[in-house]
Amino acid sequence: MQTVSLKLYSDYYIWAPLALTGCDLLPEKNILLEVKKNRIVSCQMVQKDLLPSYIKVHPGFYPLEEGTTLLPALIDAHIHLALDGKNFNRARAMWKDSNALQTRIKHNLSEMINSGIGAVRDGGDSLAINLEAKRMVDSEQYSGPRIVAVGQAIRVKGGYGSFLGLDYECRTDIPALVERIWASGVDQIKVVISGVVSFIEYGSVKGLLMPLDDLCSVVAGARKYGLKVMAHASSAAAVDLALKAGVDSIEHGYFVSADGLKAMAEKHVAWIPTIIPVAAQLRGDLFAIRTPLETEVISTICKEQIEKLKCAFELGVPLGVGTDSGAGGVSHACNLVEEMLLYKTGFLDNRTVLKAATVTNAGILGLEKEIGILEPGYKAALIAVRGNPLDNLEDLKEVDTHFLPS
Ligand SMILES: [Zn+2]
Repeated sequence: MQTVSLKLYSDYYIWAPLALTGCDLLPEKNILLEVKKNRIVSCQMVQKDLLPSYIKVHPGFYPLEEGTTLLPALIDAHIHLALDGKNFNRARAMWKDSNALQTRIKHNLSEMINSGIGAVRDGGDSLAINLEAKRMVDSEQYSGPRIVAVGQAIRVKGGYGSFLGLDYECRTDIPALVERIWASGVDQIKVVISGVVSFIEYGSVKGLLMPLDDLCSVVAGARKYGLKVMAHASSAAAVDLALKAGVDSIEHGYFVSADGLKAMAEKHVAWIPTIIPVAAQLRGDLFAIRTPLETEVISTICKEQIEKLKCAFELGVPLGVGTDSGAGGVSHACNLVEEMLLYKTGFLDNRTVLKAATVTNAGILGLEKEIGILEPGYKAALIAVRGNPLDNLEDLKEVDTHFLPS
């Protein structure tokens, strides 16, 4: 795997035997891209042996090998950099050891680059470690994917997620809390509407539900500063509240009803179903500690979530892909393709799944004019993989080259 860091004031030419272009990832052969100031300025069909000699000798010329495919870099719409996906308590303890924490985060970010992930959205932590990581990447002190950060999530006092962000006691405290989070330099506001699903009692979701008026106050505050709202909603009732309040994306959405999906399609609210954090509870070491009852509950939740994907897609819900990596059992980087493969088991075709992880996710991150599409005007945030992921999504596991705009 080679990473090509594109410099702002250098020009590049990338030639690919096959490229997946435009919003629909159309396969086109013998594509020459010209890149200036990190953006694709032209995209044309040229046979490799007909390339002009000034391009062949250009120091910024990258001819890709036969058998590889060039496509937009992948995007993970839901991660938690502050957590390690292995041991929650150990990861939390590491928050006090800045050197160890930064070493781990740097490692995770470089693994993401190696896995073809060009951008992520972080769902928050109570110390805004994600925001610091964003600053380190933006200032080029760390090499990593572009980070869209929420800093600290907003939660009701006594509700779920003390590790995710800051709580409020009274509705009247919310505008000042939103202002404080906005002033810290976040890209979006994250709100925790519900608790988490129970693996013991099917359909039960632990924790308080945020009252609708409180949620409306959070959304109004975010709108004041022009920020999108990312909502943790793990039950049909929480999804309902999120839709009434007018959030932009629904995270998890376990047990979402058919009416909930219809409303999401009508209001153009994105859904990030995060199947892998539940599916991971039945993998490896975690499987060994599960009772037969838990195994059944976990399997049922996964199966239902996967079955709803096709329904959501057919209704026109903007379907994104997020792993919740950092959560228990979900390591960073490697699980994005695993999540995409789960979408495939829900009978979505490869193009639909790939669009979810590129063009749709770019919109969820608020970067729809910058990344997620290979066409003139967009940043050259691109990857080359051996094979063709339209034929086989597993080909995304072998990234050959990652073009990383500064
Ligand atoms: Zn999360």
